[in-house]
Amino acid sequence: MKRRGMKLLIKIFLTFFFTALVIIGGVAWLSHSLQPEKQLSRIVEKNALLYIEALHTKLGVNPDDAKMNELYNDLNVSVRIEGHEAWANKKDLPTFQEVDEQSEHKSDLLVVGKYRSYFYAGIKNSSPRAVWFISANDFPRGLLFPFVAIAAFVLLILALSFLTIRWMMSPLKVLLQGVHKISSGDLKYRVRARHTREFQMIGEAFNKMADNLEKMITAKERLLRDVSHELRSPLTRVGVAVDLLPDEKLKASIQEDLKKMEVLVAEILESYRMREGAVALKKSPVNLVELIQHVVEDYHGSVPAIKVNLPSAAEANVDPMQIERVLRNLIENAVKYSLPDSAPIQVSLRKGFCEWQIKVTDDGVGIEQKDITQIFEPFYRADSARTPGKAGFGLGLAIAKNIVIAHGGQLTVSRHGRGCEFLCVLPC
Ligand code: ADP
Repeated sequence: MKRRGMKLLIKIFLTFFFTALVIIGGVAWLSHSLQPEKQLSRIVEKNALLYIEALHTKLGVNPDDAKMNELYNDLNVSVRIEGHEAWANKKDLPTFQEVDEQSEHKSDLLVVGKYRSYFYAGIKNSSPRAVWFISANDFPRGLLFPFVAIAAFVLLILALSFLTIRWMMSPLKVLLQGVHKISSGDLKYRVRARHTREFQMIGEAFNKMADNLEKMITAKERLLRDVSHELRSPLTRVGVAVDLLPDEKLKASIQEDLKKMEVLVAEILESYRMREGAVALKKSPVNLVELIQHVVEDYHGSVPAIKVNLPSAAEANVDPMQIERVLRNLIENAVKYSLPDSAPIQVSLRKGFCEWQIKVTDDGVGIEQKDITQIFEPFYRADSARTPGKAGFGLGLAIAKNIVIAHGGQLTVSRHGRGCEFLCVLPC
């Protein structure tokens, strides 16, 4: 196990190591091979025959100053010729003696070197002996400062090592996606991280954990559904028995409790049926504007008030009863979780690219960031201190979300000022 775990570490270490090695080696090699002296040597070597020929034809046996100037102009170099040591078309050209002291013998043909601000090259054994000089100032900048080449090389190596490390780390993305999927409730999601042995092991462990989680949650849900199912008949029988109680006060109190239990049981069963797609939607063309107005009318006089922003018409193919239920839940919550000084609740409808977007925005207690992803989970209720005595069973939003999903839409929530905004998207 320990040896296996080391592998990824070694790989990353080796990648860093080789990258560093290649960068250092490459930069050293580049700066060595791009030295101006080397460039000069290459240029002279390439043109050696040409230079000798030019030397002979242009200068002749006894070169004079005018001819040497002409040569200098033609080749754009300075030149010192044996027998004319005193002559120089630039003042501070090194003497033959100084050149000889600094020279590096490159090949059988060439002598090259650098003296003060001059790079020079001479052809060995030529007669008369001549040395060409190029001033550092005349040398092409790109050759003197091979920074561009070095920078390009370093960037290339960095890009390659970045891509390599990203490729090595890519399974982390897959795992992260798995974590998001599972935490958003998709318990059937499994990861496929076969990249390296280490990630494969993590992937297998992750999938095993997801298997166990799915089994546990499914068992819990089945138990809850079965218990709810089994409770229905006894509740009905208790209701009948309670009707026979002589004490009216006690009877009313028990009936109220029974009613709550019946609602809870009905909501639990409804929630599971909706999630499993066991509720057949009765879809028909519906004018969403009328539907929203109809629901909002029932909240006439509510505090805070409800303001609507609707187009003239909006037709969608939905189950009107179920969508009404969603709207009622959202508006009911917006009213329920409002504060005494809350601004009016906004209900708006607008057309997106190919969907209808219904927004219910309130200025109430709001939802904390940590609750945002869980608010649609069955039985989830946000911090009760924020909503004292208001929260119900925490099933309304779970059912609403399942209804919207069954329509091929989406129900999401986001924070809006201190309140929140629910967005219900329905296909056109
Ligand atoms: P219930 O309201 O019956 O508890 P819901 O499923 O409708 O159940 O809501 C779940 C939880 O989400 C609520 O308990 C509440 O904490 C939070 N909630 C829902 N709507 C809002 C809202 N508009 N503002 C603040 N919190 C809300």
